[in-house]
Amino acid sequence: MRTPIIAGNWKMNNTVEEALSLVRELKETLNDVKDREVVVCPSFTALYAVANELKGTNLKLGAQNCYFEDEGAYTGEISPVMLKDLGVEYVVIGHSERRTYFNENDDLVNKKAKALLQKGLKPIICVGETLEQREAGETETLVRKQVFRDLDGIEPYQLKDVVIAYEPIWAIGTGKTATSQEANRVIALIRATIKEMYSEKEANTLRIQYGGSVKPGNAKDLMNQRDIDGALVGGASLKAESFEAIVKY
Ligand code: PEP
Repeated sequence: MRTPIIAGNWKMNNTVEEALSLVRELKETLNDVKDREVVVCPSFTALYAVANELKGTNLKLGAQNCYFEDEGAYTGEISPVMLKDLGVEYVVIGHSERRTYFNENDDLVNKKAKALLQKGLKPIICVGETLEQREAGETETLVRKQVFRDLDGIEPYQLKDVVIAYEPIWAIGTGKTATSQEANRVIALIRATIKEMYSEKEANTLRIQYGGSVKPGNAKDLMNQRDIDGALVGGASLKAESFEAIVKY
């Protein structure tokens, strides 16, 4: 019922030429994939070139961040309008690296989510706990709080364009993955939170990804879990071979 969505977050990697060469390889191997959505998220500098390369393919274009205003005196920022203009469809917001290194909080993530939806773009909203929070038994409270705050004021009809990525911070780029059962348990909790905030209908249709050291070797087990609807992939999305293997789990 929910179409899985697998997104590659390339982070701060790849020149334009490198991005083009990666996306050309992905086009060859992933263009025939029909039963799941595949998204690539290059850095801003490569978006225009990658957008042109993806024309006429099944692959979707994503960005890794944005600001919430349309335009104006916000030096260094990129607006949803600009991303839309390039053919971007998805935008990752609230990634733990943005929250940690750039002090982004749920209030800002919420503003970005609303601005994106208003412009017809689809936010991939990242939530997840640190190791300290997990060890202190705070995972459930923290993740529920993030979901409540990040979705505040988003209307039920807009949820069809929202994706949530549950990314335990201790699993990002560390090689440590949550067990598929544990990832599913927290994702089911997020789904229950959506039911509480909206209704069963929205809870059943909202797509929730898992992210955190997803690799070809663990993708299938994760994706086969009942509540997991795809993956947000960092490191393993930088090589066509491993990203292909994950997409085709
Ligand atoms: C990410 O950046 O969202 C991520 C999950 O990274 P990695 O797959 O490298 O852990």
